[in-house]
Amino acid sequence: MSDLIKLTAAALGEKIAAGEVSAEEVTRAHLDRIAEVDGRVHAFLHVDSEGAVEAARAVDARRAAGEKLGPLAGVPIAIKDVIATKGVPSTAASKILEGWRPPYDATVMTRIREAGMVMLGKTNMDEFAMGSSTEYSAYGPTYNPWDLTRIPGGSGGGSAASLAAYEAPLAIGTDTGGSIRQPGAVTGTVGAKPTYGGTSRYGLIAFSSSLDTPGPCARTVLDAALLHEVIAGHDPRDSTSIPMPVPDVVAAARQGATGDLTGVRVGLVKEFSGEGAEPGVMAVFRDTVEALTKLGAEVVEVSCPHFQYALPAYYLIAPSECSSNLARFDGVRFGLRTGDDGRNSLEEVMSLTREAGFGDEVKRRIIIGTYALSSGYYDAYYGQAQKVRTLITRDFTSAFEQVDVLVSPTTPFTAFELGARTADPYQMYLADLYTIPTNLYGGPGISVPAGLSDGLPVGLQIMAPTMADDRMYRLAAAVESTVGTFTPPAL
Ligand code: GLN
Repeated sequence: MSDLIKLTAAALGEKIAAGEVSAEEVTRAHLDRIAEVDGRVHAFLHVDSEGAVEAARAVDARRAAGEKLGPLAGVPIAIKDVIATKGVPSTAASKILEGWRPPYDATVMTRIREAGMVMLGKTNMDEFAMGSSTEYSAYGPTYNPWDLTRIPGGSGGGSAASLAAYEAPLAIGTDTGGSIRQPGAVTGTVGAKPTYGGTSRYGLIAFSSSLDTPGPCARTVLDAALLHEVIAGHDPRDSTSIPMPVPDVVAAARQGATGDLTGVRVGLVKEFSGEGAEPGVMAVFRDTVEALTKLGAEVVEVSCPHFQYALPAYYLIAPSECSSNLARFDGVRFGLRTGDDGRNSLEEVMSLTREAGFGDEVKRRIIIGTYALSSGYYDAYYGQAQKVRTLITRDFTSAFEQVDVLVSPTTPFTAFELGARTADPYQMYLADLYTIPTNLYGGPGISVPAGLSDGLPVGLQIMAPTMADDRMYRLAAAVESTVGTFTPPAL
């Protein structure tokens, strides 16, 4: 095993820039690691070895020609399979997109390539990003590098596991209800959901358009910030993209690393005081809050009375939007087509394709969403959920009049055993109890490793006002500076 795979992205970028190591060597070290461990972890659905080596060589050539490149040039990255990557399979872990190779790159991917970063491959996930354990992938689950009998979180379990297994130093995730932060928490890695509209959704295979947010996954807060800087910023191709400068998240991470939080007001969400959470998770949370106080933060309790309705509101809004977004998978335009034998009608081909191509959880959501949007039920369900969303946003707005950031555990429980929550969808949905309010509001949230409970990672979630992503990076870096980073047992 090469030592290169243990380095941070920041350190790799510096070594490549200094000419101490080539981008090609760094890339090959990671491809070797993937070949060594991914049979057991299954973080990747597709490894693009040739494309990666080619991209790395191109960076080495540009550097040799004297070109000045960015801090992450030559650094490898794993991409969640929900992101469209030109010419490279992009399935969103669904059978219905098997074999689809997009003719274009998502904006985040374009920016990653422009930064000279090297894509290693596409990571496993819950089908269409619906799930909290990566068990709903049509291609089999991903295993948590901390304990291969446990889940790596979801939907971005592949991205998070690739980091924890040292297969990649950086990854991209998407967060609709927690799919970057929750996998980060249960794998002992950092996962940041930017402000909605802060990163472009162009080229993201849509799940719930008013919530979906691509963001960075890393092993350190600074690495996450460096990647955030690459992918964020206005994109004219996404009508919900915010035409404002990106907050200086890298400077904030560096400031936080000094460990001084004097004058920072931190709010504890009263409604997240631990009901239903594992005692071990709450113990780590309390210790972390204590540590923040020692760094000079002022900690107060804040009430967000409508957070308790976030989960039910989300499970109406997200399925409603997905039922509309997934209508495009009709057996005609993309990927799979079933029953097109000249005897079946167009409607029959469509229905046979969907029957064969969508998994049970995706079908469940389409059915719930179609029902909630149907005339006669719209006001009772979807309309009501939208009202609750407004109330949750008001809770955040009034909380941020009192404090700079809010904190909570990222998840109520640590990584569970595979199969433990698949029988009852509601038990699976509970994994995102603490992360979903942020999505409904649209603000940024980050999960940073805070400690261990029974040998398994626990994350601290930090939530900030919209377009104040820098605040959460500052606090996360301060947490990291006191509690350190966590290394899983050797694979
Ligand atoms: N686990 C949540 C869901 O199943 C969130 C998923 C996500 O953020 N993509 O919908």
